[in-house]
Amino acid sequence: KNFENIDLHSSLKKYFGFSQFKGLQEEVIKNVLQRNNTFVIMPTGGGKSLCYQLPALMQEGTAIVVSPLIALMKNQVDAIRGVSSEIGIAHVLNSSLNKGEIKQVKQDITDGITKLLYVAPESLTKEENVEFLRSVVVSFVAVDEAHCISEWGHDFRPEYRNLKSIVERLGDNIPIIGLTATATPKVQEDIIKNLGIGGAKLFKASFNRPNLFYEVRTKTENVEADIIRFVKQNSGKSGIIYCLSRKKVEELAQVLQVNGVSAVPYHAGFDAKTRSKYQDMFLMEDVDVVIATIAFGMGIDKPDVRFVIHHDIPKSIESYYQETGRAGRDGGEGHCLAYYSYKDIEKLEKFMSGKPVAEQEIGNALLQEVVAYAETSMSRRKFMLHYFGEEFDDVNGDGAEMDDNTRNPKEKEEAKDNVVK
Ligand code: ADP
Ligand code: MG
Repeated sequence: KNFENIDLHSSLKKYFGFSQFKGLQEEVIKNVLQRNNTFVIMPTGGGKSLCYQLPALMQEGTAIVVSPLIALMKNQVDAIRGVSSEIGIAHVLNSSLNKGEIKQVKQDITDGITKLLYVAPESLTKEENVEFLRSVVVSFVAVDEAHCISEWGHDFRPEYRNLKSIVERLGDNIPIIGLTATATPKVQEDIIKNLGIGGAKLFKASFNRPNLFYEVRTKTENVEADIIRFVKQNSGKSGIIYCLSRKKVEELAQVLQVNGVSAVPYHAGFDAKTRSKYQDMFLMEDVDVVIATIAFGMGIDKPDVRFVIHHDIPKSIESYYQETGRAGRDGGEGHCLAYYSYKDIEKLEKFMSGKPVAEQEIGNALLQEVVAYAETSMSRRKFMLHYFGEEFDDVNGDGAEMDDNTRNPKEKEEAKDNVVK
């Protein structure tokens, strides 16, 4: 089929109701429709799903979408089913299905009804599934959250390493599209190598978040008083405060509550009901602040989070970018404040000391970048974007003034101090 004459915009409108593509979507989709291997790097919320969903809907055969989380797959399948009167247009194939359901899924694929088949990597490895998928028309394989293939990413899943050899068994020249929000050069290399997509065209969006203000403060014994002051100065605004431990989450939540801040704690130690209650209270704005471990935030889409505070420094720049990225989604103000003390770095190092050596080495290297970020006197934005392989123009760049170091350069303060003395 030749898609040159097909109006991509009308398909976009027809299936998704959008009148415009976001960022690089249109170019990506054209490349996928030309049956090329494609590599997409866009920050979270950038609109990666559409990059494979739309071409899947427009092409003959079934696109296989590999995704690590069952909950994410279910959401996507429900969303796709909403665009069509045909329920079988999208399916999940996983171990939770009974025999009858599996039969229906396979029938819909064979009948050419199913355009998108979501699978977890472990289901794709199953011999019976490989055998079945060999016998049908596969339009392409999309590997979502492709950083899971890399030990340098934040969510390594060994099963992702098998994907390339499985795709090869499914047929000749099945295009692969890899997608991730992890932009570090090491992870990119691993993805390209392990998916075998050396010739893939790379589409990389900017990771700059011009509306976010980045600040690091030295962590002292007064950190809690400092946080209370900050939150009170921002009263009525939504914010997230991340702590390393569950214990600290509960302690800090109590301290804030006692001080009249409307806040709830959140961590994986609470049962599901309690977690969703606290999460809803935050989303519905019954409370202003949630104090949480990193268990909080995956898939949370509250557009007007005005600050993200890290009581404890995170274990990588990558995590810090993801966690602070939950601020200012609506384009409005977003203050990202991290408390830093070298003691916390040593704590994180200790956590890793029980792990395999290779993992420790990676963990320590990532941690040293965090130290460098916290201690730098250059623009934090420039530092962070450089870490993601992106050059930022700190004079004319978007958001150039939006960090503590640029607003109050350290050299100047020292110079002033010298004059006073
Ligand atoms: P990512 O996977 O990159 O984190 P998603 O694919 O989940 O991002 O998309 C993020 C949001 O952007 C979704 O709510 C989606 O509906 C929306 N979106 C995607 N493409 C467009 C578009 N062209 N116009 C408007 N909204 C879009
Ligand atoms: Mg996504």
